[in-house]
Formats: sequence, C-alpha cells, structure tokens
Amino acid sequence: MKLGARTGGQSRGIATYFEEASERLALEDGSRVGVIGGGPAGSFFAYFALKMARSAGIDISVDVYEARLFDQRGPAGCNHCGGVVSESLVQLLATEGINLPPTVVRRGIESYVLHTDVGRVLINTPLEEKRIAAVYRGNGPKESEPVEIAGFDRFLLDLAISAGANVVRKLVTGFDWDHGRPQIMTPDGAESTYDLVAVAAGVNSHIVKTLNSRDADYQPPETLRAFISEFHLGEATINECLGNSMHVFLLDLPRLEFAALIPKGEFATLCLLGDDVDEELIESFLATREVKACFPGNVVPAPVCHCFPRINVRAAVRPYADRIVWIGDSGVNRLFKDGIGSAYRTAKAAAKTVVFRGISRADFERGFWPECRNLIMDNWIAKLIFGVTTLIQRVRFLRRGVLRMTALEQQREGRKRLMSSVLWDVFTGSAPYKEILLRTFHPMFPLRLAWNLVAGNVVRTKEQGVREEAQ
Ligand SMILES: Cc1cc2nc3c(=O)[nH]c(=O)nc-3n(C[C@H](O)[C@H](O)[C@H](O)COP(=O)(O)OP(=O)(O)OC[C@H]3O[C@@H](n4cnc5c(N)ncnc54)[C@H](O)[C@@H]3O)c2cc1C
Repeated sequence: MKLGARTGGQSRGIATYFEEASERLALEDGSRVGVIGGGPAGSFFAYFALKMARSAGIDISVDVYEARLFDQRGPAGCNHCGGVVSESLVQLLATEGINLPPTVVRRGIESYVLHTDVGRVLINTPLEEKRIAAVYRGNGPKESEPVEIAGFDRFLLDLAISAGANVVRKLVTGFDWDHGRPQIMTPDGAESTYDLVAVAAGVNSHIVKTLNSRDADYQPPETLRAFISEFHLGEATINECLGNSMHVFLLDLPRLEFAALIPKGEFATLCLLGDDVDEELIESFLATREVKACFPGNVVPAPVCHCFPRINVRAAVRPYADRIVWIGDSGVNRLFKDGIGSAYRTAKAAAKTVVFRGISRADFERGFWPECRNLIMDNWIAKLIFGVTTLIQRVRFLRRGVLRMTALEQQREGRKRLMSSVLWDVFTGSAPYKEILLRTFHPMFPLRLAWNLVAGNVVRTKEQGVREEAQ
C-alpha cells in the first residue's frame, strides 16, 4: 500500500500527527492510476491528473482502458450523443488552452429555432462571441464518406495521451480488491493492481453495475432510454433547410421531454429525450407537421443509423470511496443537458482532489463531492424548470404567450431579452439551472409574460411577428 507523506497539523500532538499520516492515502512518485473508459470523463481526468501531478512534482502513471476505436464510422466507433458542446464548455476549454480544431467541429451553431404547433421563432445567441460546437463522438455516421475529420472523443483521448496517458485497448471485464487496492481484469486474463481507479465507463456499459467500493455503498445512476438517429441530407440541403441553427421542438406529445435536430456537415442528428423513448413515440414525433417541415419536400428520409443509448437522470449514490472515484455519467451529471460539460467538471474536480488532497473517502468527500453536490442541487431546480417546460408543451395558451414574447424580443434591438435568454440556456444547458430560474425573478419577466399571454391569445395582431399557422 502506497502511503503519502503529505500531512498538516504541525500544532497537533505528535501521536495524532503520525496517526493521521499513516491513515492518509495519497498519490506519490511511482503511483499507478487506472481509468476505466476513455470517453470525455476518462480523458479529461487522465489529462488533468497528469498535468496537475507534474505541477505538484509527483511522477504518476495513468492507464486509460478503452476498447472502442473512435476512428471507426458508425455505432462501433461512436459514444452515442447529440454532440452539442455547450458554449460555456467551449469557453472553459479555451481558457485551459484546449481549442477545438475545425477537423473536430462539424458546425458552429449560432442560433436556435423553436418549433411549436402555434408557430416557430428564431433565437439568436445572447452573446455574440459565444458559439456552440456541433461535433461527432465517433468518426461520423454509418455510410458517411471518409473525410478529414476527427471525432471529439478521439481528440480528447489524444489530449490525454499528449499529457502522458497510456491507452490500453482492452475492455475491462472484471474488478476486484487486491490487499486493499483496486484491481482491473481484462478478457486476456491480465490483472493489474492500481493505487487508484477512476471509473468513467458511462451508463451504457454493464461493468458499471458490477463495480463497487469495498464498503459496497456505491449505487449506479438511474437511467432512461433515449434515441439518436442520423439523416444524410447533403450540405446544400442542410444549409437551405436547417442552416447554422439547432432546431428544438416543443410539441404536445406524451413522454417527450426534449427533441432537437442538429445540423453537422452533410448530416443532421436527431435526438429525443423523454420517459423511455420507444418506436411509438418516435413515429408520432416524425409524423408531426413541424418536424416534416424541417426536411426537403416535407418528407422525413430514412436515417442512415440510429441507436437507443441510455442517459443519466439521477445521480449515483456515493460515487467515491478509498482509492476509487466515479466520474462523468457513471457518477453525477446535469439533468438532460451539457453531459460533456459535467464530465469535464467532475473529472477535473476528481483530478484536483487526488493530486492535491489524497485518494481516501474523506479526501473525496471534501474535495470532489462539493462539485457533485452542486450539480445534484442544480438538478432539483432543473426538475422544476422542466416541469414548467412540460406545462408549456401541454397548454397551447401558454405556448402562444411564450412564443410571442420571444419573437418580440428577437425583433426589437436593445430590448432586454428575458424569455430568449431563459429559453436559450434551457435548450443549450450553458448556464446552471439556478441562474436560469433567478432570471425569471426579474420584475419585468412576469409582467411581460402576462401581457404576451393576453396579447398572444386574445389581441393577436399582425405585429406579433410570429408565424402562427391556422390549425
Ligand atoms: C440521446 C443523448 C444525447 C445527448 N446529447 C448530448 C449533447 O448534445 N451534449 C452533451 O454535452 N451531452 C449529451 N449527452 C450526454 C453525454 O453523452 C454524456 O453525458 C457524456 O458522454 C458522458 O461522458 P462519459 O465519459 O462519462 O461517458 P461516455 O461518453 O459514455 O464514455 C464512456 C466510455 O467508457 C468506455 N467503456 C465503457 N465500459 C467499458 C469497459 N468495461 N472497459 C473499457 N472501457 C469501457 C466506452 O467505450 C466509452 O468510451 C447525450 C446523451 C444522450 C443519451
């Protein structure tokens, strides 16, 4: 067992001092770290842990276990995600000196189009300098042309390798404790014992259910089945029908929480999130007039590939213990939005903890858990916000008012964009849900909403600027 020598408490008694020192677990020169999964959470963790350890003068080695080859096109090389990198994450990465190259960004998203059955409205990015990046998590959809692109996950894994990580191209199939230290097993019979293991295996892998701390008190996150499909439309058609906008649908369909069509190069990615998305829900969604209108000739083509990945909808219980930490989707994530951003946050918080505090349960409790707790508390507010969004989805009277208020804000220069900024951040996940909620406390917000509800439903004049179509 490798024990660190970093201690504090010089004023304490000598006995307590040595007691604490011998109890503290920490990384030291020669420590071995294993990371299960080389998606965003695993790569970010490896990258930050190695960089921080170097700056702290500790020489550690990091093995990232990842069997998926992100250079493959289609589901085999893909980590099944909408691929929207929020504007706040793009900015955060830039401050770390990590800039997404053009070979990774398939399209810069400049605006959102909100589609409802009572009209649609274009919402421009509230801050001109911020841009959302649409990326592929693999090397493009099935049957796509082999072009000069690199998937987001490959880019991040390369970043971790550049920091010194060693990628082990094997699936982890077993996990155990070897004299108090975590041990990873692979199908070739190899067993490797580490000083610390970071679990970043997402929620689509069975291994997450079998991993546990020695106290067996980790419980995996709750998940729901989502849906993703890719449509090959060609660049010219995408530019004409979708442009550089992400298309979001607020439709009155039971069990549908969020639906978006994201343009990327030659393809458009469709994502449906909701209460266990199934064929019936997909069919009724694709049959709506609002969705068909986004495709040439009002016909939805057959997708080139589709999948039903799972999404983390409730945080894992106690995602840390002595010598083990769960990050990204396997641990705690933001509800329905900015999953990659949460992977970055939890991975960085875990890396900082293991390098500068230690690797015991108590260290994670103090250093890592506060970041997770913030996300969990924000998710409670998210539930409230999504409850209101669902109400708007269900009640046409509300949809008319919200749409009218947004359209007027977008038309009038200099007007405070209260509803637009709320909708923008609810759709993009760029701001914490608490911040979004606080914006609705602006005294003008309820006043303007009340007026637009009346005007949108009763007065309804041409000056609305909302293309409202007769039902
Ligand atoms: C329909 C849908 C749409 C989404 N859209 C977005 C979006 O637009 N923007 C956004 O920010 N987030 C989005 N998300 C969420 C996002 O995909 C996740 O939050 C994010 O991928 C989490 O990263 P991760 O590294 O924790 O897990 P993952 O991305 O799942 O990566 C886990 C990695 O672990 C590897 N692995 C698993 N098991 C093993 C094993 N036994 N051995 C070795 N390796 C293993 C996998 O191959 C994988 O590479 C979406 C999710 C869904 C379901």
